Amino acid sequence: MLSTKKKRSTCKVLEIRKLTAETSVVRIERIKMDFEPGQYIRIGIEGDPEIRDYSVYSGGHADYLEVLVRRVEDGLVSKQLCDLNVGDSVSVGGPYGHFKLLEEVRSKPLLLIATGTGISPFHSFVDSYQGLGFKLIHGTARADEAYESDFYGEGYFHCVSREEGGDFKGRVTEYLKTLEIDPDTNAFLCGNCDMIYEAFDMLQDKGLPTAQIHTEVYF
Ligand SMILES: Cc1cc2nc3c(=O)[nH]c(=O)nc-3n(C[C@H](O)[C@H](O)[C@H](O)COP(=O)(O)OP(=O)(O)OC[C@H]3O[C@@H](n4cnc5c(N)ncnc54)[C@H](O)[C@@H]3O)c2cc1C
Repeated sequence: MLSTKKKRSTCKVLEIRKLTAETSVVRIERIKMDFEPGQYIRIGIEGDPEIRDYSVYSGGHADYLEVLVRRVEDGLVSKQLCDLNVGDSVSVGGPYGHFKLLEEVRSKPLLLIATGTGISPFHSFVDSYQGLGFKLIHGTARADEAYESDFYGEGYFHCVSREEGGDFKGRVTEYLKTLEIDPDTNAFLCGNCDMIYEAFDMLQDKGLPTAQIHTEVYF
């Protein structure tokens, strides 16, 4: 009988890149894991049964895996991941998920909408596929949370809700109200569920069919 349970591997931490006081990119060994950009992996500290899901941040061609992790102070796993040191071990399973950029969609206009670390799968898309025509709207509370935004070039647009800064003061959904959308657009929404539900309804009201709206809820 075929088992659907995926094997877990032990991977060494290769690098930690601290982007803000709460958020870091954790780079680990890839150990031949095949994944499609947009998918997530399940990570835990080696020897600890607690595991959580993290979208792969790095591109498909890199010989390492990266995840972008925000430290949740009351949480069990994210804190431990942010406190890792180079040479420590983590246990990794996957890949999982269907939040992918299918080939027929890559040549269409793309509207990528993220809150916080929900930008992670979009980093993987842009790093993996050349010449995507995208606008990336990134919503964060603080102005310093535009995680490595230079990477996206002029496609990046930053909405900052709790202080001055970025390209727009307010939530991504407030900015979305002002936006005209090409009917051929495929929209990808990733991050917290409040943004996703609200943005989903707004995109439908603007005429996008459900089949062109793709979602990944983090919490
Ligand atoms: C498919 C998928 C992909 C994900 N990818 C990422 C990713 O790339 N980067 C990432 O940082 N997280 C990601 N998450 C969230 C991640 O799996 C954990 O839930 C998060 O890191 C908190 O884990 P914890 O053990 O520290 O907290 P827990 O003990 O699990 O939970 C504590 C509380 O924190 C809340 N919470 C979870 N995430 C956040 C957050 N980012 N900000 C504020 N509150 C939060 C939960 O709702 C819960 O109430 C993803 C979740 C899913 C389902």
